[in-house]
Parts: sequence; C-alpha cells; structure tokens
Amino acid sequence: MKNEEKIPFIDMHCDTLMQAWFRLKRDIYHFPSAMADVQRLAQGGCKAQFFAIFLQSMRMKKILGPLMQKDDAYIETLMSTFYRTLKRHSGVLAFAGNAQDLERNKREGKISAFLTIEDGRAVRGRMETLEEYHKKGVRLLGLTWNYPNCFGHPNSTNIIEMKRGLSDFGKEAIGELNRLGIVIDVSHLSDGGFWDVAELSQKPFVASHSSARVLCPHPRNLTDEMIRTIGEKGGVVGMNQNPEFLYPGSQENRIEDLVAHLLHIRNVGGRECAALGSDYDGIDGKLCLRGPQDYQKLAHALKKAGLSETEVEEIFYKNVERVIQDVMR
Ligand SMILES: [Zn+2]
Repeated sequence: MKNEEKIPFIDMHCDTLMQAWFRLKRDIYHFPSAMADVQRLAQGGCKAQFFAIFLQSMRMKKILGPLMQKDDAYIETLMSTFYRTLKRHSGVLAFAGNAQDLERNKREGKISAFLTIEDGRAVRGRMETLEEYHKKGVRLLGLTWNYPNCFGHPNSTNIIEMKRGLSDFGKEAIGELNRLGIVIDVSHLSDGGFWDVAELSQKPFVASHSSARVLCPHPRNLTDEMIRTIGEKGGVVGMNQNPEFLYPGSQENRIEDLVAHLLHIRNVGGRECAALGSDYDGIDGKLCLRGPQDYQKLAHALKKAGLSETEVEEIFYKNVERVIQDVMR
C-alpha cells in the first residue's frame, strides 16, 4: 500500500508507556515486544496518538511488591519516557497540546503525541494538581480506572456501585477541567458518574476507549443513551479493540466486530461521534489488527461496508480533531 493512499488516523488510547515501564524501556521509538511503537505508528499512517499514563493497579501492586513506585515517581518516569522519545526522534513525532500544534506537526510531516492520564487518583483530590498536570502537558484525564478514587466510582457489575455518581470533588473538578482545556474521559467511569459529567460539562467530553454495550454487554461499554448523549454534546467514542468488549466472552476479535461497533456508534451517536481508541498494550487475545501498522485494514473494511472515503476519514481522525479544536486551548 502506497503512503499517499493511507487514511491518517488518530488513536485516543494506548498503554505503551506502561509497557515500557514494565520492561525498563525508556524510549518507545522501536519497541518490538510491545503492540505499538513510534515506528509502527508511522507505518500505519498515524496522525496523532494519545499516550496514556496508566496508574499502577492494586493487582500490579501485589505482583510488584517493593518494586512498586509511589504514584508521583511512577508518573515522572512515564512522562520522562514520553518526553525522551519526543526529543530523540524529533524528526518523526512531536508534542501536541492543542489544535495549532496538531496542524503544525502535520505540516512538518510529524506524528502528534498527546499525553493523557488514566485514573484521576493521580490528582489526589487537590484541584491545583490539575493545572500542574496541564503545565506538564497532560491534555486528557480518565476520571477513574476500575477502583473508586477522589473523582468518583468505576464501572462495575454491581448495580449499586454502577449507579454511584461523582464525588463533590469530582463535580467541582469538571469546571476546572473545562477551563484548563483538559478533555474529560468517561471510559471506566460508573454510569452514575457518566450522567454527572453529561450534566455538568460545558465542553464536549469523550469515552476514549469504550465500545457499544448493546452489542456486547460489558460494564466498560456504553449504552445507546450514553452514546447519543456524547454525540449531542459534540464528543466522541473511541472504539476499544479488546475482544471482551466487542463480542461476549470472546478472546478473539474479528474485523467485522470492529466494523459493527463503529457503525453502531455512528448510527446511534451520529456520524460525528465515532472514533478510535485501540487500547493497544492494554489488551490481550487474538487480534485482527496486530497494532497501529494494520489500521489501513480497518479503513478498507469500513469502505467495503459501504462508507465513503470522507466517512472513513471522519472516524479515523476528523471527529477527534474537532474535539481537540473545541476543548483544548
Ligand atoms: Zn483503560
């Protein structure tokens, strides 16, 4: 496939920085044991990648024991991996913190790298921390991971937990996140928390890596009502490629599962709502796309399913570009 034929893509979530931490890798340009690295992003036609700093989970704490770093030190390590990679490979990729950066990087033929945090635990219930993270380059925040934190409660199969909303701090922080231009990410959040964000956020918000619950009843996925609301608010849903979120009980994803979820999100939330959030390096199983180098296979499958080139471009990057334009400063 020739380069000019590739449809550029923006992927809203990968855990490659966490994999790098685990494997003592401090530069993710060439990282063959991970699912994604900068070389393969370039190969696949990447326009922008959102790199998550995923906070270590309780399970990881148990496995790592004394090797476990305190959150602050761990976050610093992942940030330094991110910035070291940008510095060493500045001809290929560059930091992006807003739409202007994205545009400039594109002009210069570089991939844009956005920095995100997955788990608002990193904020430690201190409002001023949000501005500190913004200064350090963070442009999207997943309010929770799979445990309660200062923002609120996570997605859960427990109905009571699932209905719980944001904490008082979480509610107050929505305005500050809007003001700073940090994108609010509701992937992993409880349903109750979702509806609080929908009510309180003055800016579009996203689910960076979630799929459709009506097609696969997993609490990490979104109901049609949620997808519709995200669309009405001008946000996007980045489809997650985790087999478990695409087809009930599956360890394998097929290209038709990816297409089905994207078309569903698009049908329910509107054509401006569907986007990509692979979750590479955070998922397992037999995957039809091995990593970002294979994204053009998905473009091809979407066209085969009847979408025009423009419609595929919307899903691949245009919709997320709009959110970047509307939310980041
Ligand atoms: Zn996640």
